[in-house]
Amino acid sequence: MASLGLTLTDLIPFLRRSVSLAARRFFLLPPHKPSKIFSSSADAITSPPSFLASNQNHQIQILCKQGNLSLALQLLPHEPKPTQRTFESLILACCQLNSPSYASAIHRSISESGFDSDPFLSTRLIEMYSRLGLLSEARQVLHNTPSKTVFVWNAMLKALLADDEAEEALSLFCEMNCVGVELDSYSYSCALKSCIACSANSSCSPHRVKQIHCAAIRRGYDSHVYVATTLVDCYSKLGFTSYAEQVFDDMSLRTLVTWSAMIGCYVRNERPYDALNLFREMMLSQDPDLTPNAVTIVSVLLACAGLAALGQGKILHGYILRRELDSVLSVNNALVSMYIKSGSIVLGRQVFDHLDPCRRDAVSWNSLISGYAMHGFYQEAIQVFDEMVQSGVSPTAVSFVSVLGACSHCGLVEEGKSIFQSMTQKYNVVPCVEHYSCMVDLLGRAGQLDEAVKLIEEMPLEPSPQLWGSLLGACRKFGHVEYAGLACSHLLELEPKNSGNYVLLADVYTKAQLPEEVDRVKKLLEEQSLPKLAGCSWIEVYQKVYSFVSVDEMNPQIEEIDALLLELVAAMKNHGYVPDTKVVLYDLEQEEKERMLLRHSEKLALAFGLINGKRGEVIRITKNLRLCEDCHSFTKLVSKFTKRDIFVRDVNRFHHFKDGVCSCMDYW
Ligand SMILES: [Zn+2]
Ligand SMILES: [Zn+2]
Repeated sequence: MASLGLTLTDLIPFLRRSVSLAARRFFLLPPHKPSKIFSSSADAITSPPSFLASNQNHQIQILCKQGNLSLALQLLPHEPKPTQRTFESLILACCQLNSPSYASAIHRSISESGFDSDPFLSTRLIEMYSRLGLLSEARQVLHNTPSKTVFVWNAMLKALLADDEAEEALSLFCEMNCVGVELDSYSYSCALKSCIACSANSSCSPHRVKQIHCAAIRRGYDSHVYVATTLVDCYSKLGFTSYAEQVFDDMSLRTLVTWSAMIGCYVRNERPYDALNLFREMMLSQDPDLTPNAVTIVSVLLACAGLAALGQGKILHGYILRRELDSVLSVNNALVSMYIKSGSIVLGRQVFDHLDPCRRDAVSWNSLISGYAMHGFYQEAIQVFDEMVQSGVSPTAVSFVSVLGACSHCGLVEEGKSIFQSMTQKYNVVPCVEHYSCMVDLLGRAGQLDEAVKLIEEMPLEPSPQLWGSLLGACRKFGHVEYAGLACSHLLELEPKNSGNYVLLADVYTKAQLPEEVDRVKKLLEEQSLPKLAGCSWIEVYQKVYSFVSVDEMNPQIEEIDALLLELVAAMKNHGYVPDTKVVLYDLEQEEKERMLLRHSEKLALAFGLINGKRGEVIRITKNLRLCEDCHSFTKLVSKFTKRDIFVRDVNRFHHFKDGVCSCMDYW
């Protein structure tokens, strides 16, 4: 036998094949041609010939790809050894068809075929159940998978996050840590996204984010682009700008999403100047992968709006048109907002009017309503609110803040009251502190102080500093000492470092001729040893934005600015301008007080604009705080003396100074 060089066992396959061929010839059986039968009808395969009962896997997979899940499932029992790939195809088809009725059948087949402990299929099953909105089934799969890979865990994290179960996702993440799962970048970013989702319900502490950040650092995932970008976003939404900056700076690789997140962080946290600078840096890199998308552009437009940088905004508008990004609604809404907040209500209205009426959403309308209100066009704001309601778009909380503010400025007390009532009765919008604040302002301005205080006492929410501020403003107007004391006792407790409150209270006491009380307020202020007011103003000159802080010694043009300001003051004093030094509560010599007043950031910005800007052009200034009394009367006179239109947007509203008058009519 050895001479043949083959043993009998080696020959078995050959023998089998020849037997089979012989048998076929003998019994005249047809050759293998399976495909025809399956494409004809479902009935044809209910009992396929026995010789077909092997290797149906490929056929099932093709049927799944074609979306013919019912046929694929009918064929499945005839495949004695369905593969992992076959089950994956079934799951994917089920997801695509979005049909929960097939899901349990597939799951059952997987269990029956002994694949229920296969982590790969468990991952797919969790994904499938999540897609179908069957979260408890997904949990069951996780529970029943004996050896879970990180992918199984991640799938569950993702499923929980998608179903707004962020708290549970975070507990799951903790569990993953406890049982020693090798976490990957996806696990970290999912956990961070859960933190963001929790912070929307204000149940997430920054502590949790920092913990996850630390864990990511320990495992070397902190610089992973996906994790780091999510970290930037997280810190941004929590208001931790410096942390976001640090993560961003430490990244060696940054995508467009990363840059957009950091730009968005500056915008969100009221640092529009830094947002524009970062955008410029990104554009200068000329990296084709960093071509801004709609998200980036919306952020940059908001930054322009924040700085009233009309010139930069217009350049951006041109870019938007070239890139055809104007088809995106959010971009259009941001454009409306940018133009209006930069002082051009006409251009804002133009963009709004060009929008297809069917596409306008609440944000579009709100931009317009708040725009009119900010500019002092209150009647128009109320009119646009009515148009919004008529067009069938439901007003939101933001719309009500604007329209109530407008009613308040117009003295439309009854209309304001009925709109306030309609919030709950008609539109199902629960009033928040801001709305109550508007109502206190509305009643206060109309001199109905008793009713305003009654509303405060009866409101179900904790009054905010703004609300007490509204009451204090009204008390100042009507000389109500008692309520002023009430408002201030709360204000000094809620924001002891805000010197503006002390100034207003001292003013009420001065007017009521209570010098002892004035002294008491001054003492209180001194006890607080308040830091210098962090006033900051911005001005755009030749499409470049310049920022000024109060008492700015670093500006290269400071001498020129000083000289101009002194010249203006001297000229204006001849026409009856008296520096309003009562806003300086420190005990200083009159001359020193006047010098301090001249160093307010908006005056520096104004002088800078007069020196460097184009003659006759509108001057636009933005300020991070409320405009002080002195700057207000100073700017009024400057507008008259220099024959210039001056727009100043302070933290509350727009002031349009022209010919010595302000659009706010001296109440802001
Ligand atoms: Zn000032
Ligand atoms: Zn004004």
